[in-house]
Amino acid sequence: MEAADELICLGHDEDPGERHGAVNPPVVLASLFAQPSFGDLIAGLGAEHENYVYTRGRNPTVHAFERKIAALERADDAKAFASGMGAISAVFHALLKSGDHVVLANRVYGPVVQLARHLERFGIEHSTVQGTATDAVIAALKPETRLLYLESPGTMTFRQLDLAALAETARARGIVTLCDNTWATPLFQKPRTLGVDLVVHSATKYFGGHSDVVGGVLAGAAERMREIFDSGFMLGGAAPSPFDAYQLLRGLRTLPARMRQHQADGLRIARHLADHPQVGEVFHPALCEEEAELTDRQLRGFSGLFSFTLKDADFPRLERFVDALRYFRIGVSWGGVESLVISPDRQGKSHHGLPPAMVRLSVGLEGAETLIADLEQAFARIQ
Ligand SMILES: *Cc1c(COP(=O)(O)O)cnc(C)c1O
Repeated sequence: MEAADELICLGHDEDPGERHGAVNPPVVLASLFAQPSFGDLIAGLGAEHENYVYTRGRNPTVHAFERKIAALERADDAKAFASGMGAISAVFHALLKSGDHVVLANRVYGPVVQLARHLERFGIEHSTVQGTATDAVIAALKPETRLLYLESPGTMTFRQLDLAALAETARARGIVTLCDNTWATPLFQKPRTLGVDLVVHSATKYFGGHSDVVGGVLAGAAERMREIFDSGFMLGGAAPSPFDAYQLLRGLRTLPARMRQHQADGLRIARHLADHPQVGEVFHPALCEEEAELTDRQLRGFSGLFSFTLKDADFPRLERFVDALRYFRIGVSWGGVESLVISPDRQGKSHHGLPPAMVRLSVGLEGAETLIADLEQAFARIQ
């Protein structure tokens, strides 16, 4: 974690003098901004990405959050959205047209695959590469490929792509790269410094950090962001509310402290599970020896989201195990203070090629000892 990044999260990039010394940014609740003259209105409407005209375009509280994410991701600009999917949809809608092709690399967030399928009706094709081998991803690129969509570490199995190698090949072929960086946060991974064009986050997860806000954010070079602002963002209408942006700013204040504990407790629990007689495999980037070199190059740390399989467990045992947990609440999403558990297993049926009896944990802030004791009492129930 870089000291400069921690200071940005904590607010040392802000000037409280601009707000009467208030230590927190104000929530600017206004759907529109009155202009000094008609001429100013005309000029403002001509460049809404840099003027406060209408909150569907730009708002000071939202912009304060965007500036921090741009700085953390080493990008010129960032744009916040009402959700992570709002940000991802905006990229697809802004950059793709009929006849274009998209490659989805690694196990990507499920609704992204659904979005790609939906866009087939508009003549946009896609290929999915569920593995992480660089050669396999490159082999899926076509002359029509316009967007290479990356998620690393990927959904459910948390395997990594070689971001620098893929970004270099894509750039040479004029293909835009986008990386979903929700898992690592910019504190632990900066895809832009590896050559990736666009970085997207579900701000709902670690940025919000308290399971009380849904949001998304996209970061990239000024020109590319302008292209996405004008069409995907302004016409899509997935603008966040100033209240939501305030929640995200408040979340960022404690992001470094939370990530340190998510990392430490996640690692402690993952290692405990790796030695457990009732566990098959643990899927955590720190425990993946094949990827040690990639981890060194790409990751500065690990978040608290990982998965494992129950050894020799059928669906009823999986269900009993999940239901026995007390401090891991059963639910989707992740990145909050409360630990969470879900499984992609659908009554013993293999789900998208994932192993049966797979359990995903989001390690919250209850403390590793409490959570290990919880897991142990659940293992005891299925012995
Ligand atoms: C949750 C999530 C998204 C989608 O974000 P929303 O805020 O739910 O729209 C995208 N990518 C990953 C990895 C996610 O976990």
